[in-house]
Amino acid sequence: MSLPQSAATAGVPTAPGRPAQARVVANLVVDFGNHRDYENHPARARYLCDRCGYRSDIVTGPAAVAAFTATARDTHRSVCPALQENHQ
Ligand SMILES: [Zn+2]
Repeated sequence: MSLPQSAATAGVPTAPGRPAQARVVANLVVDFGNHRDYENHPARARYLCDRCGYRSDIVTGPAAVAAFTATARDTHRSVCPALQENHQ
């Protein structure tokens, strides 16, 4: 048996040239908001961990976002189960 290599039958596209070890480990999502409509669109930030699937609560407000973006990665890295396994 042989599998066709047609892209039409490939359910999930691969990412050639992207070494597994270089993949994004975590994402820090920041939305600085719409200052012309600040009450409805304040700055927001959220931390997404690509290793363990952790998704933080959404932080809102410029001061909270600034503090969050400065510490979210280190804070999560200290508790991330995936990173604990690798002892990084
Ligand atoms: Zn994690």
